[in-house]
Amino acid sequence: MIKFDKVVKQFGDHVVLDHLDFQVRRGERVALIGPSGSGKTTILRLLMTIEKVNDGVIWIEDEPLTHQRKGDKLVVASEKHLRKVRTRIGMVFQQFNLFPNMTVLQNITEAPVHVLGKSKAEATERARELLQTVGLADKENAHPTKLSGGQQQRVAIARALAMDPDILLLDEVTSALDPELVADVLDVLRTIAETTDITMLIVTHEMGFARDVADRVLVFDEGKILEEGPPADIFSNPQQERTQRFLKAVL
Ligand code: ADP
Repeated sequence: MIKFDKVVKQFGDHVVLDHLDFQVRRGERVALIGPSGSGKTTILRLLMTIEKVNDGVIWIEDEPLTHQRKGDKLVVASEKHLRKVRTRIGMVFQQFNLFPNMTVLQNITEAPVHVLGKSKAEATERARELLQTVGLADKENAHPTKLSGGQQQRVAIARALAMDPDILLLDEVTSALDPELVADVLDVLRTIAETTDITMLIVTHEMGFARDVADRVLVFDEGKILEEGPPADIFSNPQQERTQRFLKAVL
């Protein structure tokens, strides 16, 4: 579903990802863990096309995300190409990023109507289903400022799912929440993982969540994959000394 092929990303002289290769299968849930600054968020931002690669190609199924075909060559993607591929990928951020001047329902229906061209009635029906899934059916007319952080984050999850993405990117979605609000958000994500086949890339410091939900864990350090494997192996029997130190610090 996703393939990073020798991806290089640098900010000025600082090489954040150095010829990074990895693949994610369709429907797989992959947790990205590792110390702060190791490049995890940059990977999600490249997939969202918020950032551009300096070299290498990212593939989504057989389509280049970062590039487009011109004859038998690949050229750097145009904005138009990016707008099209972007609709297949949903992202939930640490800081919710809801539209403050819109109601919960308007937040969720905005993109399906204006980007996908769904009718308002169809988008509203789907939004209501999703609000049910995230446990906020009674909040459709509320404004985000009237909701707790955990509720806002659940609206953000519903908003991402409303675009029917093939891929869902989760970037530290519980980091900005008070501890007592974290469980509800993680429960919603567990339900989504159990009831859909959306491919998920999860950047998280919640090791319990990674252990429960992920099929595979990638441990990053300085823009490279230190080791990877099923959560049971990585958490119980990490091979690399660097991984052992990281897990000791966060578990
Ligand atoms: P992580 O998510 O693992 O904490 P990031 O992907 O956020 O790591 O960051 C990786 C490195 O890239 C860090 O050293 C960070 O300072 C740097 N970085 C990220 N975004 C930018 C940016 N827009 N400009 C300059 N440096 C950046």
